[in-house]
Amino acid sequence: MAHAIKFHPGMTLLEQFVDGSLSGDVALALAAHIDLCPHCQRLSQDISADLGSQLVQQNVKKTNDDWSTMLSAIVEQPQLSKAELSANQRSQAAQQSIVVNQREFILPRALQRLAANHGKWLTLGGIATAKLPAGSEHHVSLLYINKDTEVPQHTHLGLEMTLVLAGKIVDENGEYGAGDLLINSPDDTHTPRTLADEDCLCLSVLSAPLQFKKGLTRLLNPLQQFFY
Ligand SMILES: [Zn+2]
Repeated sequence: MAHAIKFHPGMTLLEQFVDGSLSGDVALALAAHIDLCPHCQRLSQDISADLGSQLVQQNVKKTNDDWSTMLSAIVEQPQLSKAELSANQRSQAAQQSIVVNQREFILPRALQRLAANHGKWLTLGGIATAKLPAGSEHHVSLLYINKDTEVPQHTHLGLEMTLVLAGKIVDENGEYGAGDLLINSPDDTHTPRTLADEDCLCLSVLSAPLQFKKGLTRLLNPLQQFFY
C-alpha cells in the first residue's frame, strides 16, 4: 500500500501556489508535493476553479479584442513536428529516474527536467547532495541520506522545505515518508535521521544556510557549506 501522506503545505501556501505568487523554488517543492499527493491535487484544482471564476467575473467587461489577440498569439506558436515530439517523449522517459548509491529513484514529474541537470554529487559520510539549477533566491538540491545516518542537529537561518521523495526520515517531531513536506523555520531545531534499514531521497529548498548546534567549531563551517 502507498504511504499515506500526513504533512501537507498549508492552505495559504497552496493558494499562493495556484495564483502564481510563490517564488519559483518554493513553487517547485509545492509542485513536486502535489504530483505525489492526491489530496493536494484536489485542493489545488478547487482553488484554481475558484480563482478562475473570480477572474471570469472581473474580465466580463473586457472586449472581444483581447480574446482574439490572445487566440492569434496562441495560433502563431510554432507547432512541434512529429520528430520533435517523439524526441521530447524519449528524453522525458530518460529523465524519470536518477541513480544514487546504486539505487534508482523515480522522480515526480515536476522535478524531472531540473533533476536531469543536477550538479555533481558531493558526499559526506552517509549523506550526498547535488545542487539543482533553480532560481537564485534559494538553494535547491537533491539530498540522499543512506540508511542509519543522522544529519547533525541544526536550526535554520531561514526557511527549510524538505520533500521526502523516497524512503523515510525521522526527527524529533515525527516520521516522514514519500510525499511528506516538512517546513522548518528559524524557530525549529531538529536532528533528521534515516531508519536502520532504509535510505532516503529528498528535495531540499533552503532560503539560508543551516546552523549546526553541536560538534567541534572547526567542523561547522564545512558542514554549512556542504548543505548550502
Ligand atoms: Zn498534500
